[in-house]
Amino acid sequence: MDTKTSSALIELGSPSLGEPEKRALCAVIDDGWLTMGERVRQFEERFAAMHGADDAVAVNSATAALHLSMQAFDVGPGDEVLLPSLTFVAASNIVVHCGATPVFVDIDGVNNPHIALADAQSKLTPRTKAVMLMHYGGYVIDVAPWRAFADRHGLLLLEDAAHTAGMPGMGVLSDAASFSFFTNKNMTTAEGGMMIVRDAQRRQRARALRAHGMTSSTLDRAKGRAVGYDVIDCGHNFRMDELRAAIGLVQLERLLGWNEARRTLAAQYRRTLTRVAPEIEVPFADGQATAAHIMAVLLPEGCDRSQVMQRM
Ligand SMILES: *Cc1c(COP(=O)(O)O)cnc(C)c1O
Repeated sequence: MDTKTSSALIELGSPSLGEPEKRALCAVIDDGWLTMGERVRQFEERFAAMHGADDAVAVNSATAALHLSMQAFDVGPGDEVLLPSLTFVAASNIVVHCGATPVFVDIDGVNNPHIALADAQSKLTPRTKAVMLMHYGGYVIDVAPWRAFADRHGLLLLEDAAHTAGMPGMGVLSDAASFSFFTNKNMTTAEGGMMIVRDAQRRQRARALRAHGMTSSTLDRAKGRAVGYDVIDCGHNFRMDELRAAIGLVQLERLLGWNEARRTLAAQYRRTLTRVAPEIEVPFADGQATAAHIMAVLLPEGCDRSQVMQRM
């Protein structure tokens, strides 16, 4: 138990950091190149390789990644984006920031609290431009029927993969997948995010939008790979720095082992809860592919949630 906190509460996702991360940070300071250097590039390459993708784009949060995935595919004013009603607010915020309209789609049910295909179908209008999936709790959605749905209606298919770093299939069938390395996620860079975009041209567009819509980086120019730059798009400063990438490279090596440990613990909790408190429902199926990011449970109707939390 953490001795820094006097309460007996189990912490929600305190980060695992140690000597390797400290050494990696010191090495960045010794090298003196602080942002968008070789470590960011290596982090992108290794993250892409882990997910079977050609390449990835590192950014400073999943919110930034989601924003770029809209902008790189021209989602804007007049467009509607289908979102799960059970999701994190960043997803709907960025739709609004792009001038588009979020349209909430109900979940499939208590046992499968993922966006429901039948309700998505009923929310389609001539303005629908994209559908965003979110792999809630780390439980992986079967993306194939969604790809077929998106193709049938000419929609973009986007994934909010903030809960599923390291899981197979991310960004394979969708147009873009966004990951988070915020402090409470399965791996962390303190703040940070990553995008997997399969289409090389769209990925290049996202890369430019990440840094003010510029055609080359400071590192490119320092290394003689470019002499100047042009501004070709209305971009942002969504860059990742070398300190975060250095932590990310260390964390990435441990991610798959951590995910496995989470799965083991979640299965254990699931079995125990079924035995000692069968009135508590545990959504999703035992054995379903998951990064076990959050283990949500459903209390019986009328049960005082805060009292259960206290007594846990
Ligand atoms: C954490 C989270 C985000 C936002 O991630 P940041 O890296 O903090 O911007 C987006 N979507 C979901 C589902 C999340 O859990």
